[in-house]
Amino acid sequence: PKESSTVIIIGAGMSGIMAAKTLSDHGINDFLILEATDKIGGRMVSTDFSGYTVEIGANWVEGVGGKHVNPIWELAKRYNLRMSKSNFDNISSNVYNEEGRLLPLSETKPHFDIADACQSYLDVLSNSLNAHDEEDISLTTGQRLFGLIPTSPLDMAIDYSYYDFEIAEPPRVTSLKNVLPNPTFVEYGDDEYFVCDKRGYSYIPKQLAKDFLKHENEIIIDPRLQLQKVVRHIEYSANGVRIETEDNSTFYSKYAILSVSLGVLKSRLITYQPDLPYWKIKTFYQFDMSIYTKIFLKFPYTFWLTGPGTEFFLYTDDSRGYYTYWQHLENEYPGSNIIFVTVTDDESRRIEQQSDEETKGEIMQVLRKLFGKDIPEPENILVPRWWKNRLHGGSYTNWPIGVSEADFDRMKAPVGPLYFTGEHTSSNFNGYVHGAYLAGIATAETLVDCIKYKKCKEITSNDLP
Ligand code: FAD
Repeated sequence: PKESSTVIIIGAGMSGIMAAKTLSDHGINDFLILEATDKIGGRMVSTDFSGYTVEIGANWVEGVGGKHVNPIWELAKRYNLRMSKSNFDNISSNVYNEEGRLLPLSETKPHFDIADACQSYLDVLSNSLNAHDEEDISLTTGQRLFGLIPTSPLDMAIDYSYYDFEIAEPPRVTSLKNVLPNPTFVEYGDDEYFVCDKRGYSYIPKQLAKDFLKHENEIIIDPRLQLQKVVRHIEYSANGVRIETEDNSTFYSKYAILSVSLGVLKSRLITYQPDLPYWKIKTFYQFDMSIYTKIFLKFPYTFWLTGPGTEFFLYTDDSRGYYTYWQHLENEYPGSNIIFVTVTDDESRRIEQQSDEETKGEIMQVLRKLFGKDIPEPENILVPRWWKNRLHGGSYTNWPIGVSEADFDRMKAPVGPLYFTGEHTSSNFNGYVHGAYLAGIATAETLVDCIKYKKCKEITSNDLP
């Protein structure tokens, strides 16, 4: 007998869990969640690193203290997540140059001031381009119009800290019209809270799942959540969906919601019968999946500056983005002696392909420049590989230049019984946890309209400009 459900949800990250919860809230309980890994959370994932919980994926609740309340902030408060407010204001006092000299504020401040003025200009320019329906340009083009071309190691490091550190791709490839001003900070406020909880950031989606899935104490025992099911093939027609997983199981449903990342959609991990239409595949390929890598190091003792205002520091190198952005965890985990450096994009790809030993060697060369030859070797290093991981294919999405809202509508448009969700389907908040959360609700509500009220809007390429 063929086991069949009304909806199969692929992926149990924030968006997949919220899609299932939304169906459940609307009385549709006949669903099945297929998740490739052995846990809920997806890109919200932590690990034990030398006795401390570190977040390999999402780390901050971004956008707090503004005119609207970020839904993730509400949940973090409800579940009493341990967090610390990040203070980025002092970073201009914590810049080390190529030789490792800590630069005085008098030397760095004029450069930060120009970067600030340029960013304000870009916000205004973007609003104006949007208001007049003008063609999109890159952030770099906008910077040139302002008269800023970051070429010195200091200006490149500042530029990196303003843009790449947030969007994980360089300004050169990034859409001005869609990225600035960042809707997350406009809507929810400028504050950012760093999650440093033993239970991990994924405690939020795990708790949300317990709202509607059967569980005993902390453990979910509901048969509607199936872990370690890697979806490899999807057949679909007006009659329904047939899904095959890597362990040769087959599942049937009337509809499916795909919450896998854009990186997975771009790859050939899942095959489709019939193939997805050209307009859909082209949209996947047009949009960017960026890479953001936090490399953690544990030392026997601290040799970097600690105390108020030292949490973040920059290293300026001739090569843009070469181990530029550093953060220590002495505020969050005093005595942990853990520090991490964030790399992105091409540097992430390069580092993912070399051994951790090689990466450690490069990092130690930088740290010795900054803090002297006598600093100790690290006891432990953690180098996440988001790009090489076939279940992610990168970290999160970024808007490339020239991709329009209409293109973006194709991203979330259903194809027959296949619905799409995930951070990449949130036009305002793509790349964020709250984007994934809101997207899961929105996609499920569209499907509820179809199932309950027969308002099924199949969008084909003809319906879209
Ligand atoms: P995912 O979490 O990727 O969920 C998709 C699920 O599908 C995964 O569980 C995956 O295992 C599963 N899956 C994939 N392929 C298959 C398959 N074939 N079959 C079955 N299951 C499959 N956001 C913030 O708000 N703040 C931050 O500080 C922040 N920092 C980040 C840092 C990093 C390094 C990364 C990677 C992301 C960061 N983000 C941050 C972004 C945030 O993590 C994501 O936007 C969000 O978690 C995505 O949720 P999702 O449900 O769309 O996708």
